[in-house]
Amino acid sequence: MSEAHEQQGILYVVATPIGNLADLTYRARQVLAEVDLIAAEDTRHTRRLLAHYGISTRLVSCHDHNEAQVVPRLLRRLAEGESLALVSDAGTPLISDPGFQLVQGARGLGIRVVPVPGANAAVCALSAAGLPCDRFLFVGFPPRTTAKRREWATGLAGECATLVMYEAGNRVLATLAALRDQLGAERRAAVARELTKRFETFLSGSLGDLAARVEADARQQMGEFVILVEGRGEPDPGVARGDEEHI
Ligand code: SAM
Repeated sequence: MSEAHEQQGILYVVATPIGNLADLTYRARQVLAEVDLIAAEDTRHTRRLLAHYGISTRLVSCHDHNEAQVVPRLLRRLAEGESLALVSDAGTPLISDPGFQLVQGARGLGIRVVPVPGANAAVCALSAAGLPCDRFLFVGFPPRTTAKRREWATGLAGECATLVMYEAGNRVLATLAALRDQLGAERRAAVARELTKRFETFLSGSLGDLAARVEADARQQMGEFVILVEGRGEPDPGVARGDEEHI
C-alpha cells in the first residue's frame, strides 16, 4: 500500500440484493457495519436493508441529482482518513446506477477503491437464460420514445455478442416489439422478470414468440425485467469459401 493510501480512507463499492434480502454477502454485511459512512442512492431504501441486518452505520444521500455537490465532500472525508461504502438501491453501484463521479474522483486522488461484489441483474439473468455467455454486450436501458428505440435497435442488429438490457414493466412490450421488428422475429431471446423475488419468471423463445406471449399476459408486463437477445449468427462459412474461390 502506498503512503498516500495509508493516510487516506477506503471507498468500498458494495453490491446489495436485487430483491431477495438474503443475497447480501457476508463480506458486504461486515463492510457496511464497519465503515464510517454509507453513501446511498436512497437513504430510506438502504435504511430498510440495514435494519434487516441490525446495522446502524450513518447514511448520506448520493444520487444522480446531488452527486456534483456531495462528491467533493465525500472525497474530502476519504482524504482525511474516513472509510466509506457506496451502495445503490439494488445490485451493483454504477451499473445503470449512480456512483461514477465518486469512484472516478477517488481514483483521481489515488484513494483506494475496493469492490465488494454481489448481485447484478444483468449477470444474474445471463447465468440462467440459456443464451451464449462467452460474449455479451450490456446496453443499459433502451431509449423511451418509439422513434429513438427503433433507431437504437437497428444499430444493434449486426452485433454478434448476446445483448443484455434493462427494462421497466410499462415498456417491456414496446422494447420487445422494436427488437422483433429490427432484429427479426426468429432471433432467439429471453425475458427474465423479477429475479430472486417471489414471481421470478424466465421466458425463452424467438423475439416474435416472446412479444406475442408478453402481449397476451398482463402479468408478464409487471415488475422489473432483463431482456436478453442472442447475437447475430456468424456469416455462413460456405458463402465465404465460395467468395474466396471466385477471387
Ligand atoms: N445496479 C443494478 C444492477 O446491478 O443490476 C441495476 C439498477 S437499474 C436502475 C434497475 C433495473 O435493473 C430495473 O429496471 C431492471 O431492468 C433491472 N433489475 C433490477 N432488479 C431486477 C430484478 N430483480 N429482476 C429483473 N430485473 C431487475
